[in-house]
Amino acid sequence: MQTATKTVLVGLSAAQLRAWVSETFGEPAYRGTQLAKWIYQKAVTTFEQMSDLPAALRARLQEVAVISPNTISVIQRSRDGTVKSLLRLADENEVECVLLPYDDRVSVCLSTQVGCAMGCRFCATAQGGYTRNLTASEIVDQLLHLQRLSERRISHVVLMGMGEPLLNLENVVASLRLIHDEVGIGYRRITISTVGIVPKIYALAEYDLPITLAISLHAPDDETRSKIMPVNRKWGVDALIQAARDYFEKTKRRVTFEYLLLREVNDTPWHAQELARKLRGVPCLVNLIPFNYVPTPEHFQRPEMARVQRFRQILEQAGIEVTQRVERGHDIDAACGQLRGKHRGKPIPLALQPR
Ligand code: SAH
Repeated sequence: MQTATKTVLVGLSAAQLRAWVSETFGEPAYRGTQLAKWIYQKAVTTFEQMSDLPAALRARLQEVAVISPNTISVIQRSRDGTVKSLLRLADENEVECVLLPYDDRVSVCLSTQVGCAMGCRFCATAQGGYTRNLTASEIVDQLLHLQRLSERRISHVVLMGMGEPLLNLENVVASLRLIHDEVGIGYRRITISTVGIVPKIYALAEYDLPITLAISLHAPDDETRSKIMPVNRKWGVDALIQAARDYFEKTKRRVTFEYLLLREVNDTPWHAQELARKLRGVPCLVNLIPFNYVPTPEHFQRPEMARVQRFRQILEQAGIEVTQRVERGHDIDAACGQLRGKHRGKPIPLALQPR
């Protein structure tokens, strides 16, 4: 990809960088390996920092190439360590990405599209509609920008930001290959979350990558699910759960079902029992997510702790493994789409600068 006249290097693999340096400058191919190391492992922002490249080459790189055309426009740091930021892309679109440091790992949540076309009723991103797919370069670049904001090394990646990853499957897989091959994060530490595009779940299984697939189920029956997730009218609950079984058969990777709890919409004992019944014998894990409040026409509310506990108990008594999302960044608009929603159309405040 080119911006104005300069070649963008983020998004090129080490092999492509090797070919590019030798074609462009007649340099030995190993210079490309060095470039890849600086870009993906050291996450540098300038050619000057590439101290093992000759000064003359650095100057020529500067003339013809940029590492990234994207910039961070907003950074919000939460008291719990979560850092949420907006990446401003070359065409001025903006996407959210989040750094989530935990005791035992540092995770990042990345976007795969500008906006989203899926229209889930509870989601802030959906309210802004769909603009376009992100390129592999733009997906990896979010990770590199977040690495610069973290003292610790990023160890885990979830594609749970803006957009539907399986509707941008080729670029998403290309970005995962870069994250795996060039940044050095193992596939087992990468999760893709989908609204449930059934044919694309089969397409993803064909790649046979040992990643984790998370499916946003959010209801065990078509009536409830179609109300909150329009995509369910196309691919219903049973087809989706069958796709999860088949995904396991093909990849031997257990699927995670995400279950967002909305008070009195999908959090009743009946919903829990029905979920347990439908998931019997499916190799899976259920991750409960209490609704992260965003204003909606339906006035969705977050359930009280007691309702969440009761829902969880019913699943556990049925022998289903359950986890609960540890919530982070409540003080900084943590739910997907909230940050961009707030800043759209307003001048961008220069929040806290990178450490
Ligand atoms: N499109 C993909 C990935 C992005 S959304 C998907 O649907 O899975 C990531 C997760 O956040 C999904 O499980 C989604 O349903 C959930 N989510 C969306 N809005 C939310 C909110 N307000 N509170 C909690 N979770 C939300």
